[in-house]
Amino acid sequence: MNRIYNFSAGPATLPTEVLEEAQAELLDYQGSGMSIMEMSHRGKYYDAVHKEALANFRELLNVPEEYAILFLQGGATTQFSQIAMNLLGEGQVADYINAGAWSKKAIKEASIIGKVNIAADCGSEIPTRQARQEELKLSPNAAYLHCCSNETISGAQIKEFPKSDAPLVCDMSSDILSRRLNVSDFGLIYAGAQKNLGPAGVAMVIIRKDLAERVPDSVPEMLRYTTHIANDSMFNTPPTFSIYLLCLVSRWLKKKGGLEAMEAQNDRKAAELYEAIDATDFYSGTAVKEFRSTMNVTFRLATEELEKKFIAEASAKGLDGLKGHRSVGGIRASIYNAMPEAGVDALIAFMKEFEQANA
Ligand SMILES: *Cc1c(COP(=O)(O)O)cnc(C)c1O
Repeated sequence: MNRIYNFSAGPATLPTEVLEEAQAELLDYQGSGMSIMEMSHRGKYYDAVHKEALANFRELLNVPEEYAILFLQGGATTQFSQIAMNLLGEGQVADYINAGAWSKKAIKEASIIGKVNIAADCGSEIPTRQARQEELKLSPNAAYLHCCSNETISGAQIKEFPKSDAPLVCDMSSDILSRRLNVSDFGLIYAGAQKNLGPAGVAMVIIRKDLAERVPDSVPEMLRYTTHIANDSMFNTPPTFSIYLLCLVSRWLKKKGGLEAMEAQNDRKAAELYEAIDATDFYSGTAVKEFRSTMNVTFRLATEELEKKFIAEASAKGLDGLKGHRSVGGIRASIYNAMPEAGVDALIAFMKEFEQANA
């Protein structure tokens, strides 16, 4: 077997232990004689997985009673409109911070549903960054304030979440479970699974239950948070295999010491990588230093030609997925929870070698 270091932004690397466990019980789940993906979602085997995943994430993120955790389909992208459909009422305005490509998509979708105020706009700035509290132009009585905690494409991450009187809604697709979090500071948190949670096919939503009651009568049942809260995310067939893998990842996180241990490891990995970038003029970081992401480390070389060579030679050495997003180019090393420290060490060693050969 040849497992490479996969720096892809998403779908992204999963813990090898988790994949091995899934492999071991793929054909015969716990003596049932079938795979977990072949059985009824109402049966006892899947029911136990579903409940355990919810309980583990509640424990890991310390989610208070008054919040529901939901597993929904349609990715984080569906949340862009679903949030507005449910929380942005007629005659109201929602504040949005534009900090890059994902913020922009959220804004575009919400604008189809209702009125959006851009509270801060740093989405096209290079070097990239997140907004600062003092620049926010907040609306009085906003329905909510939306932000993206980690702009996956640019590598700019919120270090201190914005404050306002309105409930805070946050896209955490690429950094949920990477650091400790005070869920009570938020009205709604959402994340597509395929970066830091598990495989594609499911989005996790954490919502303060009273906010869900705002939903207007015009919203179809499947798109109401209240529907999924009332049915424990089993209103229709959930993506059972994806949620099963999420359950395995949640167990893995608990075994690794939870979010405190993850945060310490992620800080260490990112610091080492940024140190290697800053040690030389050969590489230059893309994000403003105070907003550098611990998950998606973006940097550039002097020319696109050199970047192409870097990506190709790294890939040949088993360091894959380093190509920056097609919209911005450059290099992006995604170092989510499941990327081992040895992977980051290998990348740093390659960076030094490449510089020596090409400087
Ligand atoms: C990947 C990503 C999305 C989109 O997720 P899908 O599950 O593909 O819809 C949204 N927001 C952020 C920050 C992302 O990284």
